[in-house]
Amino acid sequence: MATASHRTVTARRCSITCSETGRQSESGFFDVLEYRHTERSLETALARVTFLRRAVPDWHMSTIFSQIVAGDIPARVVYEDETTMAFLDANPLAPGHTLVIPKDEYERLNDVPEEVAADLYATLHRLVPAVEEAVDADASTVAFNNGEAAGQEVPHVHGHIVPRFDGDGGGPIHAVAGEAPDLSDDELDDIAADIDGRV
Ligand code: AMP
Repeated sequence: MATASHRTVTARRCSITCSETGRQSESGFFDVLEYRHTERSLETALARVTFLRRAVPDWHMSTIFSQIVAGDIPARVVYEDETTMAFLDANPLAPGHTLVIPKDEYERLNDVPEEVAADLYATLHRLVPAVEEAVDADASTVAFNNGEAAGQEVPHVHGHIVPRFDGDGGGPIHAVAGEAPDLSDDELDDIAADIDGRV
């Protein structure tokens, strides 16, 4: 195995290929040790992950963000309290692009207990002006990709604060969904009543 002098860890949707048998796991979210040197060393790392999963059936691989919380991998942390943390996105869409997370691992907003959700919002509320001011932004887009179909890649709730600048060429939040549906007043009433009945 090639020795890696530098490595990054990144969460990605992939399948794991065992370098010995060539067998592939089904596709899933894995926190992958990515060696920058050779394909072969990456495969070896992936095979090791497979081995760990097989050896310990109930073994839960913590998300990349839990590893940041634990201090196991580096991040540019900009804020931390008892239940939440914020750090710069490793692949920023704009200078200052920041992620805000609950320290405990919940996959979707739907899974976050109310007290933690309140803490999360409080941290977002503190961070938005700080981020905007730090990079002299004109505005910011604040959003959660909530679930795989919405583009969520890391299965650990995180709010994106993306600083925005006049004329930056980006779109509004309305640009993220597919084709807008043509709903009648009755349909809108039904949907509103249905949501209302569930909260
Ligand atoms: P999402 O598509 O909403 O799940 O976004 C995941 C975000 O996490 C992406 O913007 C990635 O750039 C970011 N990300 C992945 N790994 C790391 C990491 N180790 N440190 C900071 N940000 C990361």
